[in-house]
Amino acid sequence: MLPRRLQQDAMLSLLGSTGSIGESTLALVREVENLTVFALTANTNAAKLLAQCIEFAPHYAVLCDDSEAEWLRAALRESGCKTELLLGVDALDQVASAPEVDMVMAAIVGAAGLSSTLAAAKAGKRLLLANKEALVMTGDLLMSLARENGATLLPIDSEHNAIFQCLPTNVEGVSEAQFTFVEKIVLTASGGPFLRTPLEEFASITPEQACAHPVWSMGSKISVDSATMMNKGLEFIEACFLFGLDHKRVEVIIHPQSIVHSLVHYADGSVLAQMASPDMRVPIAHCLAWPDRIQTSAPRLDLTAQKPLEFAQPDLQRFPCLALGMEAAKARGTAPALLNAANEVAVEAFLHAGLDFLAIAEVNAEVMAQIPCETATSLAIIQTADFKARKLANELIKKRI
Ligand code: NAD
Ligand code: MG
Repeated sequence: MLPRRLQQDAMLSLLGSTGSIGESTLALVREVENLTVFALTANTNAAKLLAQCIEFAPHYAVLCDDSEAEWLRAALRESGCKTELLLGVDALDQVASAPEVDMVMAAIVGAAGLSSTLAAAKAGKRLLLANKEALVMTGDLLMSLARENGATLLPIDSEHNAIFQCLPTNVEGVSEAQFTFVEKIVLTASGGPFLRTPLEEFASITPEQACAHPVWSMGSKISVDSATMMNKGLEFIEACFLFGLDHKRVEVIIHPQSIVHSLVHYADGSVLAQMASPDMRVPIAHCLAWPDRIQTSAPRLDLTAQKPLEFAQPDLQRFPCLALGMEAAKARGTAPALLNAANEVAVEAFLHAGLDFLAIAEVNAEVMAQIPCETATSLAIIQTADFKARKLANELIKKRI
């Protein structure tokens, strides 16, 4: 049996510990002997954060929404837990860059995770990147920040992790040199819950239906993104930036069983794919232990007990958000940030304000069409694009609900 120890003792800051990726990460922390938690962070769920602090005894806990701060502080004291409570978004940057920290798991959802992800890159950490929106928004900026500061960027997103596993090993993490013999990469997509739903039913899709993913259990925003296939659009952009690839060398295929997590096509005709049961503990364990491997209790894949594996071309008419992602990857500049911001606002309105499912794609497309794409040479330019896109998306949504 392989050890449940990392090569070196490590201290982890887990940003977004109360979420789906956060909980899967903690499930592994329970199994790995020499991985210690430095900080756990949450937006609102103080009760869950308290339970995590009692179990994992981190040095710090960060609560971004301070309305439950007093309750949490008192509850920590009462339980005898020594964890120090920090409040507000600035504290995220602090725990992401603290000198004691070796690894940062960036698992906050959306643009809210951007600043702390950048802080971890700037501080040269081993950066386990789940927060795809941060990379979609800042692209080359985040990649060069990581490179210049000696950060090791490792992809948690299962598709990108699969590709990384199919590339030649490179001690510095993801690097362009790994692509010398690569023709193209293929991202697989489950197609979400509405892969075969009649199009005339799309207008009446509810948040509950959209969040019921057939294979993966995830947070609500990424679940809706999977239902619209915006998730694959964002992942398309993520892949271009992460691997330094032109959009022409990235493809998407539908694979409803989510067993083959992605593929790399080599120049000699070889195709390497990574397979595993659809469980995020697998890519998380890979990034925690990389370049080693560790033993985990993630479910083992039995191909003989598996339904037949299917593959098909994606239908861009059915899933216009995927097409928008591909267009934004082609345009580069501020286009990905505009699309991401519009989508975050539209998904929030679909989940909580009665916006139609179909309107998510319409709002995204209108924002992309109305706001010109600029070269994204600074964070300020990207943040301005993000702000403009959110404003316009909100205006467009107001007219529809
Ligand atoms: P989730 O909604 O379950 O959890 C999100 C976490 O972020 C929570 O801990 C929440 O408290 C925190 N958070 C939310 N808003 C915040 C804010 N404004 N400020 C500070 N913290 C905030 O989401 P998830 O499914 O765990 O996804 C997290 C990230 O990982 C996303 O970017 C998602 O795209 C990516 N991802 C998730 C999966 C998956 O299987 N869940 C797979 C691949 C990639
Ligand atoms: Mg994914």
